[in-house]
Amino acid sequence: MQRERITDHIFVFRSDQYAQVTAGLVLTRDGAVLIDTLLYPEETMLIRRYIEKGLGSSVKYVINTHFHADHTTGTCLFPDARVISHQLCREMLDVRGRESLRHLKENAREFDPVELILPDITFDDEMTLDIGGINFKLRASPGHSQDSIVCLLEEEEVLFAADTVMPIPYFVDGSFADFMESLTRLLERDYENIVQGHGEIILRGEVPEKITSDLEYLRRLDEAVKVALDKGQEDIENQVSLTHCGKSHVLLNGVVQQLHQHNIRALVNQYRDAPQQAQEAPSGDVFERNDAWPQKKLI
Ligand SMILES: [Zn+2]
Repeated sequence: MQRERITDHIFVFRSDQYAQVTAGLVLTRDGAVLIDTLLYPEETMLIRRYIEKGLGSSVKYVINTHFHADHTTGTCLFPDARVISHQLCREMLDVRGRESLRHLKENAREFDPVELILPDITFDDEMTLDIGGINFKLRASPGHSQDSIVCLLEEEEVLFAADTVMPIPYFVDGSFADFMESLTRLLERDYENIVQGHGEIILRGEVPEKITSDLEYLRRLDEAVKVALDKGQEDIENQVSLTHCGKSHVLLNGVVQQLHQHNIRALVNQYRDAPQQAQEAPSGDVFERNDAWPQKKLI
């Protein structure tokens, strides 16, 4: 696991074991706030130990940015914390999160100690919390999933964007149109840093280019899929390349190619009015859906 310090009281942890998924930590005078956890309990326990032994604090709040297992599995390792999420996240955790966890437990012993925790503080559109003198602005940001949120620390201008910002937009479990809207909203202000749900931290100078490039990816993808459908092309997943949509193959250790193909399939289904992907892959999160994450033998 990698650890980075953004300011004296903001840290980011990035998994070595699963798809560079990130967790954020904000230290306040009333205790620590953790924004997401990592997938593997072993890595989340390293975070907990660091907070308790290294920083002499303890986690008072865990924010679940969306219900997917790669972000929420570690919530149970902070039994004294209040858990915050979008109302839909609570509902989705209760159904699909439960199913996803059962699947994980069937496939790997390391998930034996994991229990599903449902958030006890939820909101619909926006919520601002003052915790230990720090303002956390949470707001709905659907697209990657219906229940996705982002968390802004206004004063520090740090945005924990979760999977609204990742190496390529991935909307298979959410909505293309919502993703466009949520990304466009991010352009409304400046940020010192954006913490992506997966991958490296985006620094101030890189932010506008990154968001613009993600929007451009979505536009080009949409355009190319429409053209291919109009021409009656078969095998569209292999016809529309990642580079045509302006993204590199090497992102996220090459996994983006798979994500890109899933995106294409979702769009094709949408235009053909076919049932959504979620029905094909019942548990539906990135982890489950993606048999391509290279680090894991269990899927
Ligand atoms: Zn994720």
